[in-house]
Amino acid sequence: MTPLMLAAPLASCSQAKSVDWTPNKIKTDASSQSLYVKKVENMPKDFILGMDASCVPSLEAGGVRYYDHEGNEQDVYKILAQNGINYIRVRIWNDPYDKNGNGYGGGNCDLENAIEIGKRATANGMKLLVNFHYSDFWADPAKQMAPKAWKDMDIDTKSQALYEYTKSCLEQLRDAGVEIGMVQVGNETNGAMCGEDASALGGWKKITQLMSAGSKAVREVCPDALVVIHFANPEKVTNYESYGKNLDYYGVDYDVFASSYYPFWHGTLENLSSVLGDIAAKYEKRIMVAETSFAYTAEDSDFYGNTIGQDGGIVKDYPFTEQGQANLVRDVVKTVVNIEGGIGVFYWEGTWIAAGGESYEENLALWEKNGSGWASSYAAEYDPDDAGKWYGGCAVDNQAFFDANGKALESLKVFALLREGNVVVNRADAIEDTSLVCDLNGEIVLPTTVHAVMLDNSKQEIPVEWQDVDVEAMKAGGVAKYTIEGSAGGMQALCYISMVEYNYLENWSFEQGNTGWTAKAEKSFDELFVEDKVTDSLTGNKHYHFWGAGQDVVEFTLEQTVASIKSGKYKYSISIMGGDGGETEIYAYVKINGEIVQTAPTQITVYNEWHTATVENIVLAEGDVLTVGIYVKCSGPNAWGKIDDALLNSVK
Ligand code: CA
Repeated sequence: MTPLMLAAPLASCSQAKSVDWTPNKIKTDASSQSLYVKKVENMPKDFILGMDASCVPSLEAGGVRYYDHEGNEQDVYKILAQNGINYIRVRIWNDPYDKNGNGYGGGNCDLENAIEIGKRATANGMKLLVNFHYSDFWADPAKQMAPKAWKDMDIDTKSQALYEYTKSCLEQLRDAGVEIGMVQVGNETNGAMCGEDASALGGWKKITQLMSAGSKAVREVCPDALVVIHFANPEKVTNYESYGKNLDYYGVDYDVFASSYYPFWHGTLENLSSVLGDIAAKYEKRIMVAETSFAYTAEDSDFYGNTIGQDGGIVKDYPFTEQGQANLVRDVVKTVVNIEGGIGVFYWEGTWIAAGGESYEENLALWEKNGSGWASSYAAEYDPDDAGKWYGGCAVDNQAFFDANGKALESLKVFALLREGNVVVNRADAIEDTSLVCDLNGEIVLPTTVHAVMLDNSKQEIPVEWQDVDVEAMKAGGVAKYTIEGSAGGMQALCYISMVEYNYLENWSFEQGNTGWTAKAEKSFDELFVEDKVTDSLTGNKHYHFWGAGQDVVEFTLEQTVASIKSGKYKYSISIMGGDGGETEIYAYVKINGEIVQTAPTQITVYNEWHTATVENIVLAEGDVLTVGIYVKCSGPNAWGKIDDALLNSVK
């Protein structure tokens, strides 16, 4: 709908010999026996399938090597190109070193690192997205610290420094023969950049002044490259609207409005599509996803905890499997392809794997020496609150496209397969664990089906076969937990069973207020309600409270009718404490079909002395309606009390 939406060529600015290149000339390994990939329709030939691969040299310095699908050692950038990646993204930090020259980590991503990566990308037919953070270390929504050297500059001086720095870096990249396709001016600049903050007076004016300075340098050195502005948190729709508006109002010269999209944090793809689509249409910009990723496994491989995956399970619609990872990529690409102005998707650090040591200590030594973890201890001087406390390894090694030994995963093939699709026979890819709570005296019935996520990401119920279970032994074992193994769809299924003394009463501890309970005062008096006061509760935070307030005697019933219960034997108990009762008549009672059939007397004495009334041997026939309750009558006009923990358990 705008001229920009026509497939504009993404030209390069290299002064080196022009490379005659189209994505189709890279030999791609577009076949897989096991990966299900539904074709993305209407995908433009020049659609960008990018990979941020900024940490590779720091890993290689510690001995990490990469291997293709056949197990042959290969330049990782070649492996990426062979798998359909046509663009590499690299971040640049101004000066990620302390005064002794020790790197801050996270790949020690200085200009030199970018030049090396850029040359290797160019040699393999891929263009470079140069990602300036304008910081000495990570810039993201939580931090946008200015480089040390720029820290005390006023905004005009800082803008000039940023302009000159950008220009110089791009010239050096260009002169090294790197094919620069895009330049990102700032990283996840959510209302802050390079030490300036939108919450301060004139904040957006300053931030956009910096952006414009960077953009100007790009236009001068790489007139054909696209200028990218990058934000995160598309789920915050009004924030994105304000970003677009400020860029427009302050006249920032840019081409691409880019967003991060992490499915576990950033809302739905429908929302992403709507937010980016609106920006593209309103400001006539191209849009793209500059970062996305997903875990192929819940396991950690470098002795440093990961951002997601630790708890296992199925998160945000995709399982932690290679197929889940591939399906996420496919769905993000499809979403961007279908937005007018959508030009591409970059995966974040799919090459960042374990540093290569055999233990935490060995890896720590590598992270400190080569900067191959997310932060080294040397970063503490620049970023004391985060890196200073939590420095260490890689938190995304389970989101890479290479295993811990550097071998390409089958899921890496997704990029090459997107254009034509690769439909294999659908089957279960992940099984959800089942949990059961069983009454010690009841029947144990294992489920006949389990939840499965299929290769095509559909959710299905599939039959399961459980191992033989000694039900009688489990019942005899008392309150305990068991894990039962089974098989479903050719995979292992697990059922966690908690054997408990099952309570048939709803809201038995009054934590959900009055739910399930009916109180009936025979005479009106001041206070009769569920009270939220942990110190007066037997368990939990709440209990049923009464007080006569000097006006009258107290007389009431509190009862619950059980919704549905099988025939059999049961026992019922309820607890009470209180005082100033005068002459009292207090008892727990059991009604069957509306008639009181059994009672058990109790009393109130002093504060915090709980008394439990128990009705034993309740016998129910099929179809009986059971009601349990407590009757309280006190002659003392100031009588008060607390009622809690009603239990209805089966009996053998
Ligand atoms: Ca890790």
